[in-house]
Amino acid sequence: MDYSPITKAPVDQMKVRPNLIDVRTLGGHFDWQSLEKELGLVEGVNYNLAYAAIDRHLESARRNKVALYWEGKGGEQEQYTFTDLAQLTNRFANVLLGLGVKKGDRVFLFMERIPELYVAFFGALKAGAVVGPLFSAFGPDPVRDRLADSGARVLVTTPDLKVRLEPILDSLPDIKHYVMVNKNNRSSYNPAKLDLSYEEVMANASSDFKIVARSKDDYSIMHYTSGTTGKPKGAVHVHQATIQHYATGRWALDLQQNDLYWCTADPGWVTGTSYGMSAPWTNGISQLIYEGGYRASTWYSLIQKYKVTVWYTAPTAVRMLMKAGDSLPQQYDLSSLRHICSVGEPLNPEAVIWGTKVFKQPIHDNWWQTETGAILIANYPVMAVRPGSMGRPIPGVTASIVDDTFQPMPPGKEGHLAIKPPWPSMFRTYWGNEAMYRSKFKNGWYITGDRARRDEDGYFWFIGRADDVIKSAGHLVGPFEVESALIEHPAVAEAGVIGKPDPIAMEVVKAFVALKDGYQPTEELRRELMHFARKKLAAAVAPREIEFVDKLPKTRSGKIMRRLLKARELGLPAGDTSTLEDD
Ligand code: ATP
Ligand code: MG
Repeated sequence: MDYSPITKAPVDQMKVRPNLIDVRTLGGHFDWQSLEKELGLVEGVNYNLAYAAIDRHLESARRNKVALYWEGKGGEQEQYTFTDLAQLTNRFANVLLGLGVKKGDRVFLFMERIPELYVAFFGALKAGAVVGPLFSAFGPDPVRDRLADSGARVLVTTPDLKVRLEPILDSLPDIKHYVMVNKNNRSSYNPAKLDLSYEEVMANASSDFKIVARSKDDYSIMHYTSGTTGKPKGAVHVHQATIQHYATGRWALDLQQNDLYWCTADPGWVTGTSYGMSAPWTNGISQLIYEGGYRASTWYSLIQKYKVTVWYTAPTAVRMLMKAGDSLPQQYDLSSLRHICSVGEPLNPEAVIWGTKVFKQPIHDNWWQTETGAILIANYPVMAVRPGSMGRPIPGVTASIVDDTFQPMPPGKEGHLAIKPPWPSMFRTYWGNEAMYRSKFKNGWYITGDRARRDEDGYFWFIGRADDVIKSAGHLVGPFEVESALIEHPAVAEAGVIGKPDPIAMEVVKAFVALKDGYQPTEELRRELMHFARKKLAAAVAPREIEFVDKLPKTRSGKIMRRLLKARELGLPAGDTSTLEDD
């Protein structure tokens, strides 16, 4: 597959001058500490993500700027300035101190994307707690596992969601208080013994609060990983991560003062906090939060209505928009969009090209993980985009490809994607599993679990997760390459590729394919796809088998679960399915 690079206009001819011009050296004037100074963070005084994201703006004209435009599922609208957020989060911090919450205690949130989630999140940080947001679509078991593992003391939730937790409430002895946000309560819920009304406790709390100063290395946020490759792990982050959210918000998302930014990720996953809270607000940017889920027409209308300029979304969403067709976006005015980014899974080259047709600009892929806390590899606005590449490392971070003995390899070779520790937003442990945390560091590198290759110009290309790479007749086959080839066919909406054990080749490539609306899964189409893939890929890499499916199994954050496709194919146990999307 040969995709030409998508070049950019010279900087002086761009409509908006990007924040980061010299990607490789940053003009030679870069050190992380200078960003702490820019944010006014001082250890022992105000070192806290909540200060950098909210309270620091009270000292500038941004105090009256709208930080949060909220649109509810039912079309409700609310707005909060940085001053509003500062006062509300002060109140919530007072509430928590009143409940006896101490530095380092875990406060967990189980809520839909309503403004109170954001208030509770930063209020908990102000009080010195470690905050853990949980995705609101979880059923009782995944919630119990995470609350029990983390030993959370307070859960902030809503009556609708607490009703769902009834079966597990007796198994959560560590929780001392449930703070119930009664907004839009639709359930027939009767308050229980440990319940407090958010509205009542907030009304009685003072809006003055002195932020509990933390040190750089104090824990701030816990996020359980997506569970794509196995049981989710509780990655623990520290307050210092703030400076990298701030920097990458500026460099990779190119956030600028007049932007209206929309991150579609839920705060239950790391993108929803690092880039749905910290990056925009540390940069003093106005952002849209939409409570509802994906729907192509709603999403386009939100971009039009709020005049979204910078948009951060995920490959699964882009593929769904592609599936909804090219004529739908023409019914909306999407001309406000000036920079689009994606993360979470490999972004198929076809999706990058589709962006240039529909949005008149490429979609900028970037790579990172829950563990890395922030973007580490990105396509920046100034860079030519090479469709299918994740981009280049951010300033201050060294990424490499290492072999099985963890020695760096030259450009062009495939191997483990590895990062030189430390970087500010690096996770500091897996909660309760220090041994697993240590096992990720080898020979002075953090081993990401992903396989990739770097080209001569320093662009990184994703091959597949180490667990998913297929060994077929002496070749290592990356599922991403095969999936991307299939997706180029007009009938294919999505593809998931696995290795199927084979007595001769060790493994053969098998593809599961979901079709776009209007296409039938016929034998003729199957043969056509086999032929199509063979033309695009080497014979050893092309799928030997193609099976049509209605949809692919995915995590709730939208990632294809290849391990589940494989387990089903081989009749093996499914393993941990706590993050599996509903059927
Ligand atoms: P688990 O660790 O529980 O198996 P997960 O790895 O999916 O789940 P996350 O931390 O949410 O959990 O996802 C990070 C992973 O997502 C990366 O390691 C990589 O495999 C994939 N990923 C993220 N961004 C990209 C990208 N731009 N290109 C390719 N893969 C990506
Ligand atoms: Mg992972």
